[in-house]
Formats: sequence, C-alpha cells, structure tokens
Amino acid sequence: MRFPEEFLHFVWQFRLYDVLQLQTVDGKPLKILNCGFPNKHAGPDFTTAKVIIDETTWVGQVEVHLKSSDWNAHQHQTDSAYENVILHVVWEHDTEILTKDGTVLPTLVLNGKIKEYLFENYQNLFQSAASFPCENQLKDIDGFVINSFLSRILVERLEQKSEEVFERLEQLNGNWDESFYHFMAKNFGFKVNSLPMQVLAQSLPQTLFAKHKDQPLQIEALIFGQAGFLNQSFDDHYPNQLKTEYAFLQKKYGLAAVDISLWKFLRMRPQNFPTLRLAQFAALIVKSSHLFSKVLEVKNVKELHLLFDELPVNPFWETHYPFNKEAEKVNTTLGRSSIDNILINTVSLFLFAYGKYTGQANFQTRAFYLLESIAAEKNNIISQYLDAGAVVENAYQTQAFLQLRKSYCNEKRCLNCGIGLKILKKVDLKP
Ligand code: SF4
Repeated sequence: MRFPEEFLHFVWQFRLYDVLQLQTVDGKPLKILNCGFPNKHAGPDFTTAKVIIDETTWVGQVEVHLKSSDWNAHQHQTDSAYENVILHVVWEHDTEILTKDGTVLPTLVLNGKIKEYLFENYQNLFQSAASFPCENQLKDIDGFVINSFLSRILVERLEQKSEEVFERLEQLNGNWDESFYHFMAKNFGFKVNSLPMQVLAQSLPQTLFAKHKDQPLQIEALIFGQAGFLNQSFDDHYPNQLKTEYAFLQKKYGLAAVDISLWKFLRMRPQNFPTLRLAQFAALIVKSSHLFSKVLEVKNVKELHLLFDELPVNPFWETHYPFNKEAEKVNTTLGRSSIDNILINTVSLFLFAYGKYTGQANFQTRAFYLLESIAAEKNNIISQYLDAGAVVENAYQTQAFLQLRKSYCNEKRCLNCGIGLKILKKVDLKP
C-alpha cells in the first residue's frame, strides 16, 4: 500500500504501532518512553523524545522517513541540525545510515508493526469521494470528541481573524473604536457590498460624525453622499435635502465620493439593497456613537442585541429601495439574521481580539458566550455536516465547523484533526 511520510509521522506520534519487544535494525532492545513533540520548523521531525536503547537512556530528536536511504537523499548526513537524532524511524530499511562519528544510526522499522485496519481506515478516508472525507464516518464519532476539537479550532479561527483586526488597529494608530467602525461597515456590506462599504468607512472617519451628533440628516447626507448616491437629480424632498447638505459638507471637509459603480444591486432582495443597508448603517451611527466602547460595557447578550434593534431608519426607505423608485412597503429594521451575522462576524471577533490584545481573558470568554447564545447559521456547508449526523446547535459550533471545512476537510488534513484521529484508530469502522 502507498501512503505519504505524513502517515508514518501520525503513527509514530500517536503510538499506533505494536510497542512490544521493539528492536533496532541491528538487534538492540528498544523502549520508547516519549515520542517527542512534532517540530513544525526546519530540522528533525520530533524533538525531545526519550528512548532506551540496550539499557542506555537517550533524549534527543527523532527523524521519520519512508525509506532509510531518504536520510542521504535529503542530505541530512551533512546537516549539523541532525547531529542529535537518537532514532531514525522508517517504513523500509534499505540502507545503513552512519552518524558523523561512524557509528550506526539506531533505526526502528515500522513495517509489520502497524495494524491492517489502520491502513484500511486511512484508505477509506483519503479515497473518499464524499463532500468531505469523513462524511460517512462522522455519525459514529462521539459528540464529546467532535465538540472538543471544535472548541480548539474555534480558537484557531478567532486567532487568525484577530490578526486582521490587529493590522487595522495598527493602521489606525491603536484606535479600537475606529477599527470597530471599519469592520462594522464591512459587515453591513454583507459580503456582496463589503468592498465599497470598506472604502466608504476609510473615506469617512468617525470623528466627522461626532461633529454632527444629534443631526441625523447630516450624518445620512455624509454617508449617502460619500457612497456616491447623491450625484443625480431627484423628485422627492428627502434626497434633495441630503444632496444640499452633502454639497455643503463635501466642500467643508474636502471629501471625494466613492465610485458608485462599486455597489451591487443585482439578484438581491430589496431588504439587502445597498441603499437600505446604508440607511441602516447611518441609523446605527445616529443611535450610538463610540459603539465599541458600548459593546465592551454591556452586561449581557440581550443588551448587545438592543444596540442593533429598532434602528431609527429614515421612513423614506420604507417605500424606496433605490432613491428614485417608489416600491411596496418593507420593514427597514435589521432582521434577526442580520443582527446575528453582525454579532458573529464583528462583535464576537472584536471581543476576542480585544481580550487577546489587552490580556483580559474575560472578554474572550464573553465572545464564546455570545456565540453560544446565537442560533446555528444555515448554509450548505453546515447542512452537509448535519446530514452526516453532526449535532449543530449554535453559532459557536457553526463557526467552528466553517473553520474545520476551510482549514482541515478541504485540505484533507485528517491526520491533524481530532475527529480524524478517532476515525483512523477505530477498529470496526464501516466505510
Ligand atoms: S479533517 Fe477531520 S472532520 Fe474533516 S474530513 Fe478529515 S477527519 Fe473528517
């Protein structure tokens, strides 16, 4: 059977071989006390392993190869980083390896010491044509195992996303409120219009809104004008008012509007039109200045919801989706799923990132509580895990499953996955 070297690493790391009566290739008794830690950097594969060879205890590095001749093929014989290797673990011993001082490098051959079912499980996973490799086995895995791994990768997801927050924070000279405002704007673009929303936020610092606090019309004029929507003629009174206000403010602050062609309206329900999203975004700014400071202060999830509930959207938008077209009445408040989306993608991320940045773990805990309190997201990826038998109850789990798919299942990293480890070790696994 063919398998990559990575499979042998996995077998070595999790001791998935017959550990009784081990011997090196030159017949010396071998006992593994500690297999060492996987080394993700250059150098031997495992560090600080501990073994007893012929009654002598050794602590050092372990190198794993499919064939012992790979040692020379990879030029390890001339690399000083490999001088402290105490054991060479191989599938096939095809040549003797000598150390610098001319002694034979102790070698363990795993061929014949790995149970057949491990290979079968490996093959079933890696040759699977399902939507993700363990689709047919997931239902057999204990929920505790799945949830433990999900918790680990949710942290991984939030840590990765926090890097984007820290980058923006640096660009904005450590201003958390302004960084939060930029991410919030992007979130209000709900993927399709996230780019123009980001450009808009960059062109309109929050300090400008602070100068027009308690003047909703001017805040709306700044937002719609900068978004490029006021450069046209209107019949209605409200957009004409915005136009007049913006003309004044644009000159006063030397503003340059965003290119209107960046906004996308196609294949959208009216509730998602960027004009309505901009009106809601303006209403959020009118309702709450320094929003991030408020997010940090709120005591519970209900209070967080209230920050985004019942936004004072101008009534004009109840009957207009674009400016110049009257339409059937729609509800202009942010829907439940939109609020959840903002709480998941911006609020919980910022709570986590702020906690990490300031060393206040309680904010990270609040991010987890928040995600646990939000209903599970619905999308194709989550449906596939549900169909495979996973129990998915809240956004904490859906966010983790999305990370699982992106960073593990799609990359076939089953050998690095806690669920994959259980599947591979299962004796009676049905394909
Ligand atoms: S990475 Fe893990 S969850 Fe994904 S397919 Fe492999 S074993 Fe399953």
